[in-house]
Amino acid sequence: MNLQDSITTLNGVGPRKAEAFARLGIETVEDLMFTFPRIYEDRKQPVNIADLELEVPALFRGEVDTIRPGGFSRGKKSRVLRILVTDDTGSIEVVFFNAAYLAKTIKRGDRLAFFGKPVENMDRKQVIHPQFEKAENMQTGIIPIYPLTSGITQREMRRLQKLIKPLYGQAESILSEETVKRNNLCGMEYAIRNVHFPQERQSYQEAKYRLVFDEFMTLETGLMASKMNEKYDGEGTRFEDDGSEREFIKSLPYPLTKAQERCVDEITADLISGRPMNRLIQGDVGSGKTVVAQTAMYKAVGSGYQAVMMAPTEILARQHYEGMKRDFDAFGIKTGFLSGSMKASEKRQVLEGLADGSVQVLIGTHAVIQPDVVFSNLGLVITDEQHRFGVSQRIKLKDKGNFPNVLVMTATPIPRTLAVVLYGDMDVSVIDEMPPGRVPIITRCLTGDGAREKCYDFVERQIRQGRQAYVVTPLIDESEAMDARSVNQVYEELAKRFERTEMIHGAMKQSEKDDIMARFSAGDIDVLVSTVVIEVGINVPNAAVMVVENAERFGLAQLHQLRGRVGRGQWQSYCFLIIEGQSELAEKRGKIMEESADGFYIAEEDLKLRGPGEIFGTRQHGLPDMKLADMARHMSVLNDARDEARAILEDDPRLEKPENQPLKRRVMKLFGEDLTLNL
Ligand code: ADP
Ligand code: MG
Repeated sequence: MNLQDSITTLNGVGPRKAEAFARLGIETVEDLMFTFPRIYEDRKQPVNIADLELEVPALFRGEVDTIRPGGFSRGKKSRVLRILVTDDTGSIEVVFFNAAYLAKTIKRGDRLAFFGKPVENMDRKQVIHPQFEKAENMQTGIIPIYPLTSGITQREMRRLQKLIKPLYGQAESILSEETVKRNNLCGMEYAIRNVHFPQERQSYQEAKYRLVFDEFMTLETGLMASKMNEKYDGEGTRFEDDGSEREFIKSLPYPLTKAQERCVDEITADLISGRPMNRLIQGDVGSGKTVVAQTAMYKAVGSGYQAVMMAPTEILARQHYEGMKRDFDAFGIKTGFLSGSMKASEKRQVLEGLADGSVQVLIGTHAVIQPDVVFSNLGLVITDEQHRFGVSQRIKLKDKGNFPNVLVMTATPIPRTLAVVLYGDMDVSVIDEMPPGRVPIITRCLTGDGAREKCYDFVERQIRQGRQAYVVTPLIDESEAMDARSVNQVYEELAKRFERTEMIHGAMKQSEKDDIMARFSAGDIDVLVSTVVIEVGINVPNAAVMVVENAERFGLAQLHQLRGRVGRGQWQSYCFLIIEGQSELAEKRGKIMEESADGFYIAEEDLKLRGPGEIFGTRQHGLPDMKLADMARHMSVLNDARDEARAILEDDPRLEKPENQPLKRRVMKLFGEDLTLNL
């Protein structure tokens, strides 16, 4: 057996299994070897049922006493199965949702072992969806938990890892001997073995450190070799130094804030410098980033260039388009819109206008980076809500012009070191001030049924005063989770109470979504029930109430984004976070939201409470998925890996030397087709 062999060479892996593995990106034995556990569970000795502690995951064994395939809970799909499990010391209820099929597998009198976290429900101890096996099969010790897909079980993953363990020694090192020594790293075989089969903390940590280092090394090498960081010393796209940006600012109905002015100045200096701009604008939700970008677009047109802005959702793109078109029409500037859902004939017209230069400003979704979009003279590219896009999308946009000026905007606060990784050597402008006249939003956390009722009474009074409300729910479909109030369910409830209620979610047709958003903007809808599709960017100043159902399911940074949809006009605005269940964590999070309106502070606190993974998760920034490395937690490793990557590329820019081939292969694998590499 060889690492490059297909996994079908492994005992027990047939074509069907191989398909399932392919969904996890596993095709070869090597891929399997590099599939690391997500987490580990410390399954020491089994605990007596009477000694199970609330909220502490534990292993316990017992006999199945009664099985109750339980009626229907909250809608048809979630059929519940309740099992009473007993040992010599007591009994506990085990609950499975959506698992009617288990009624056939689990029999009265079976001796089973369970691993799960006991919780309290109506004075009873329960374990919901534990893992379970026949009692005699349950492993103890430190158990790796692998990422799975349907058709592949934990047990199978563990079995296969055991099977290929003798091949771990064949793992290639992407690092030279010197690099390994310089950074005090362990060898590959040791690293891989100790991550799959950890014995004790020390060796596991050494192992993980090595693999994280490798991942960062791969990432950094790829990013440095990508076009994103291409050095350019030429003239780029130089705009006129004629003060034209002031004309546009004068036309606005309000003066810019000091922070916006500073930002415009920094951008203007870049634009007239004769060196392509590469700038990130960071500003909290509602700080007024759009108008700053628009000023730069105006300047582009005044200098004879075209400008484009890409936004992550159609709703947001259209909103930007409508606002900007109104402003630019007054100056005789022609503004176009592009999205995937447009009619072919409409689209063709815009494309022609872009190609012959008559359309000067383009706003759209990622449709603007499609190959058929050709500009006659593109001088400025802008990405809004940058963190929603991938590296390759950003590069494609930039490649539409000939070294155009690049501006990206985000409300997500990013530490400097991380920004360097994500955006290369980008300059950063910060808008750290809100437009004047904003009334601070009042935020309240609500728990319990009575509270919800009061909340909607309040919404009703606001609507009578002419305001509008958003109600956000975490999920579309009830079957996806047991307790979350789905958008449908909430919509049906509220539609009975509020006449002008509509619902919007990601699975709807674009034209429907647009229609509803347009009516909400126009004030023809009072209550908009939605999933997080409205999370980013939307601006309806008359909306003064944001209700978030199941707020405990959202990250704080996301709640902050959602809250940023209100408080955009002159009205006192409110944000109600409805929290299901009670926990200390939920309480702490709620308090932070009630007390702070500062996105940076909130993100930091979220980081402390939840760990960094979710905020700085690679997904958020469009970087390729990394298996073990966590940008925020491993910042110092990141810096070391960066230094090593830079040294290697300086010595061998296209990674042509034989000793750099393993690294090159790994970089290609990580970025795949996703990034044009200068290798
Ligand atoms: P974000 O930074 O979240 O993208 P927007 O650009 O959508 O914020 O701006 C939010 C709101 O603030 C918009 O209604 C915009 O017209 C308004 N606004 C922006 N700058 C100012 C300002 N200097 N004074 C008053 N209102 C402003
Ligand atoms: Mg915005």
